[in-house]
Amino acid sequence: MTETKESAWSAGLQLLGRLESAGHTAFLVGGCVRDRLLGRPLRDVDIATSARPEQVMELFASAIPTGLKHGTVTVREGGRLFEVTTYRREGKYTDSRRPDDVWFVGSIEEDLARRDFTINAIAFGSDGRLVDPFGGADDLRRGVIRTVGDPSERFGEDALRLLRGVRFAAEFGFDFAPDTWDGLLAQRAKLRHIAMERVGAELDKMAAGHDPERAFRLLAESGLLRYAREPLPACATPAEPQADSGERSVRGLADPDLRWAALLLRWGADEAEAEELFRTLRLGVRRGARVAAVVGLDRMLAADGGELPDLRARWISAVLRFGRAAAEDWLALAAVTAGRQLPPDVAGLARSWLDGMAAASVAELAVRGDEIVRATGRKPGPWVAATLRQLLSDVALGTLPNERPALLVAAETMACDGDGSFYSKE
Ligand code: ATP
Ligand code: MG
Repeated sequence: MTETKESAWSAGLQLLGRLESAGHTAFLVGGCVRDRLLGRPLRDVDIATSARPEQVMELFASAIPTGLKHGTVTVREGGRLFEVTTYRREGKYTDSRRPDDVWFVGSIEEDLARRDFTINAIAFGSDGRLVDPFGGADDLRRGVIRTVGDPSERFGEDALRLLRGVRFAAEFGFDFAPDTWDGLLAQRAKLRHIAMERVGAELDKMAAGHDPERAFRLLAESGLLRYAREPLPACATPAEPQADSGERSVRGLADPDLRWAALLLRWGADEAEAEELFRTLRLGVRRGARVAAVVGLDRMLAADGGELPDLRARWISAVLRFGRAAAEDWLALAAVTAGRQLPPDVAGLARSWLDGMAAASVAELAVRGDEIVRATGRKPGPWVAATLRQLLSDVALGTLPNERPALLVAAETMACDGDGSFYSKE
């Protein structure tokens, strides 16, 4: 870990050397400098340079023109990719998202001035010196999120910065400078200019990040998400931040989807709202279904205020409804946010009840529909699926062995029950 971190950084410094020997100036810049100063693992190492894109292309055989319009060339070095971008400024933003045009400028200082926050506007030179015209290093030390220049103007130019600011505050445990927070509030309605997939990507990073609770508390405090282009379910846009429930942080969950599930449950969401949130945020149909299933399963367990006459039967029917995978997800969740809906010892019981289920889906039954049709001599119809579901329920509860002869006998008894109300039941 430390070694790769070190070598990405030093490989970046070597690229600076190559650019400088060719007569250009160049700096490591942006997130990598910030993370380096914070002592955090580096992700991508970005370079800003006086060299024009075509000059960068000439210098590096491996260069790929990935964003020529914006002055960006991607260089492969030692198996890593580096974005090398010519110093630039950005023109007017008429759509609160993208500059109408960009142009190249002569100095790193001018380039830094277009960047969003002071902590992201620090450059690191090959001589080890920082170029830090906006006091970014001080803000890093003090833990402050501050825009470069007038907050309201900067948020207004590009509304994605509203979300980036919240994400960085939560990620690093920083506070907003008062005027930056005021600027964010003043411009929050501009969030409507941001495509929902970008909103989703930012929120997903917050959920997967260092302090999801703090991220969503800041979002609630700012009311920001009420201004999204498409309405989000009410649970995700509360009028007031939720009081600290004293529950353990979702951080204890490594899987971001389980973090989402835990957050949604804490917000009181149901299955439909979970699904709707994932759909609106374009976070993927599969992920949405997975999270909604965990939420639905939990809600089903908690129905009747958790006072269950037969908890085991309730658990088993929830597993049958939502599937084994959702049950495993729920157990993983229960291990971390224990005691949310059910007493902690119930999770242990649920584990053994799940392991004891001889079948959790029709596919796991030791008999198939066509075999039942043949054994009963009845015409195929919807009754077959209904019979399989009933067999599954009995097998899952352990009242019927998962063995073909026993299942066929049971199926015939069910068929003898006539074709009336029984089959129309779930
Ligand atoms: P991370 O990669 O951890 O999300 P980052 O700061 O590296 O954080 P990137 O999106 O990789 O973010 O951008 C790299 C740099 O480009 C930033 O550090 C910042 O200087 C600048 N930047 C990125 N997005 C914006 C923006 N919307 N407005 C102004 N500057 C930006
Ligand atoms: Mg980055």
